[in-house]
Amino acid sequence: MSEGRQVDLFVIGGGSGGVRAARFAAGFGARVAIAESGRFGGTCVNVGCIPKKLFSYAAHFHDDFHDAADFGWTVGETRFDWPTLRANKDREIARLNGVYERLLANAGVEILRGHARLVDANTVEVGGSRWRAKTILVATGSWPQMPTIPGAEHAVSSDAVFTLERLPRRAVVVGGGYIALEFASIFGGLGVETTLAYRGARLLRHFDAELGERIAEELTKKKISVRLNAAPLSIARDASGALEVGFSDGNPVTADLALFATGRVPNTRDLGLDAAGVRCARDGRIVVDRFLKSSVDSIYAIGDVANEHNLTPVATAEGMAVARTLFNNEPTPMDYENIPTAVFSNPNLATVGLSEAAARERFAAVDIYRTSFRALKHTLGETDERLFMKLVVDRASTRVVGAHMIGPDAGEIIQGVAIAVKLGATKAQFDATIGIHPTAAEEFVTLREKAA
Ligand code: FAD
Ligand code: NDP
Repeated sequence: MSEGRQVDLFVIGGGSGGVRAARFAAGFGARVAIAESGRFGGTCVNVGCIPKKLFSYAAHFHDDFHDAADFGWTVGETRFDWPTLRANKDREIARLNGVYERLLANAGVEILRGHARLVDANTVEVGGSRWRAKTILVATGSWPQMPTIPGAEHAVSSDAVFTLERLPRRAVVVGGGYIALEFASIFGGLGVETTLAYRGARLLRHFDAELGERIAEELTKKKISVRLNAAPLSIARDASGALEVGFSDGNPVTADLALFATGRVPNTRDLGLDAAGVRCARDGRIVVDRFLKSSVDSIYAIGDVANEHNLTPVATAEGMAVARTLFNNEPTPMDYENIPTAVFSNPNLATVGLSEAAARERFAAVDIYRTSFRALKHTLGETDERLFMKLVVDRASTRVVGAHMIGPDAGEIIQGVAIAVKLGATKAQFDATIGIHPTAAEEFVTLREKAA
């Protein structure tokens, strides 16, 4: 075992959170090393946000070709080539891997490759070397969690979709959360016969109830077979290679690919947390305080391995907060209120703040403003996609405490609305804002009728 150097900060995991913390800590003058066992950029860059959104764009062309005809265009025969999309995606991801490494190297961060594990509260072992660190930051992300039903080995997680040799003819997607909706839309748009099966009564259980109900309608319009109250029971492969997935509602689905999008768990495998005395919660997350410090003073944890909001901007904000707190004399507690988020289904869905139900629990009285309409772009044709927008207002303070949307570019629109919600804007201030016409977003500043 060789002795490594002494550093101020040792970061385990070169994903969204770890890279941000390492770069900024080094920028503040700290001596920093980072260990990554896979590819730099982590889940988001390699098997998450970025390749997923590229696939979503690819899938949306299906609608775009259709809509083009309503505007007088004749689109010739269309054909989709999966290997081309996959290869182009791989090229872009490889470029991003390089960008991430260069950012670290340029900031003066020591880059180490391999699986790192804690030896004690100030020592990390990686690649046969031991490193002493004043502070260790655990940023090891999360892994897919798969139900342990008979035949589960025939199913894949979202990770595998990014490297599929061939696009399946038929796919069944199990789950009712972010990944399930996004991949059902990707498969559907790329021409795969797609079933989305969720064990509960409403998709996106943690979102405003109307979003879950309405997105199920929109997905159905896009020819995705949405099956509710259908929990997976078993998977069997028949002689032809097809999969038969049994469900609790008694209706099996035959498909060529079964994707389990059934949540993710913190990645603490073989990390030596016990050796260092780091406390984890029952669900496996590392327990941290507002400053992201674990139960051990010299060990911090950020991102999916520690937080409840498994989103890249949350992980990067946490990385910044740790760097500022420890190395810029700027104690920065995390603020998890009003985190905007989008589901890149087709149509997109986005939200910030409280659902109607959560607002009714928190406030004595709540006013609801909502609208549903066809986008201008769809008025020339047959497309029956509908936009949905909703504001939740605390009657006493008149503040907008929740904004929700289904429709094209919902994520882009809610990102702007989120600033107003974060600043505590009132409904009157929304109304006093002049709209941009003609846009869908202007509806957020022209909603006048309270819902009954
Ligand atoms: P990660 O980015 O996962 O990085 C952890 C890194 O640690 C990995 O590179 C891993 O190889 C490395 N590692 C683990 N253990 C060790 C070890 N012992 N030693 C060395 N290295 C180690 N979020 C969004 O905000 N928007 C989206 O659109 C979005 N889409 C997503 C789509 C999918 C399919 C998935 C799965 C996730 C998506 N997310 C999205 C979530 C987002 O990817 C994560 O919240 C984010 O990547 C978490 O960052 P992190 O730094 O905590 O972990
Ligand atoms: P989610 O938590 O969003 O959804 C998991 C789904 O799987 C839920 O519908 C859950 O049902 C269901 N489920 C869980 N266990 C089982 C089981 N045993 N059998 C059947 N169904 C089950 O997780 P995802 O996997 O979709 O994504 C993981 C995380 O990654 C997300 O929470 C999000 O933070 C992040 N992400 C963010 C994205 C974005 O920002 N656009 C995109 C993709 C991922 P129930 O609700 O009934 O428990």
